[in-house]
Amino acid sequence: MEKTAKCCCGSCIVKVKTDPVIHGVCHCNNCKKRTGSAFGISAYFKASEVELLSGHYHQYLLENEQGKQQRYFCSSCGTTLYWKAEIFNDLIGIAGGCFVDNPLPAPAFSSMNDNQCHWLSLADNIKLSFSQKDILN
Ligand SMILES: [Zn+2]
Ligand SMILES: [Zn+2]
Repeated sequence: MEKTAKCCCGSCIVKVKTDPVIHGVCHCNNCKKRTGSAFGISAYFKASEVELLSGHYHQYLLENEQGKQQRYFCSSCGTTLYWKAEIFNDLIGIAGGCFVDNPLPAPAFSSMNDNQCHWLSLADNIKLSFSQKDILN
């Protein structure tokens, strides 16, 4: 089922044709900073299923212990809408929280759980996974 993700100002719109192939929340400090929230929702789709509909993006390269990631954010409002991670090279990551008009299903896993905010609890059926490599297995 088609869904669209939008930035805060609405000028950047990304359309996907399927559900994500990898879909999880991440409690790492970088996801907290990227979203300004308690965790990030990372939804990875096959690149061939993602269509950039509109908007003007700026980008930056993030490099950390999980590898390199090129991030694309709206040049007007600053929302990071999507990214390309070196370890998932035929996938595009989209910020799951940006699917507000037609939300994604519940995420399948939770990663970097040692860094989860102490006041936060998630549903019991979300699998705990401790690294991005675990997610792929
Ligand atoms: Zn925007
Ligand atoms: Zn993270």
